[in-house]
Amino acid sequence: MHEMSLAQGVLQIIEDHALKERFTRVTSVWLEIGALSGVEPEAMRFCFDAVTRGSVAQGARLEIIDIPGSGWCMQCGDTVALQERYGACPRCHGYQVQPNGGTQMRVKELEVD
Ligand SMILES: [Zn+2]
Repeated sequence: MHEMSLAQGVLQIIEDHALKERFTRVTSVWLEIGALSGVEPEAMRFCFDAVTRGSVAQGARLEIIDIPGSGWCMQCGDTVALQERYGACPRCHGYQVQPNGGTQMRVKELEVD
């Protein structure tokens, strides 16, 4: 499950912030997960709970924000909605689509004590 290492990356970001901004407890974490990022939100929740045990983010609420996928279709010359990374263009049904949105996962915001 690659979500475990991703969750550890998220915790690393949180701990870096905690050091810099001198807070000791995180109450909520907003995490953006793109539809094309390959991250499974439910697996992410599970792993987040596991890796934050004993950390500043223990018991923090994980708010997942779904970012829709999009891509640049060469044939249409336009940005189109994309459901999966190697999916077809919904307009021309071609496969020359370059993902350009919803491909990442990132920490958007932290609520701290
Ligand atoms: Zn197209």
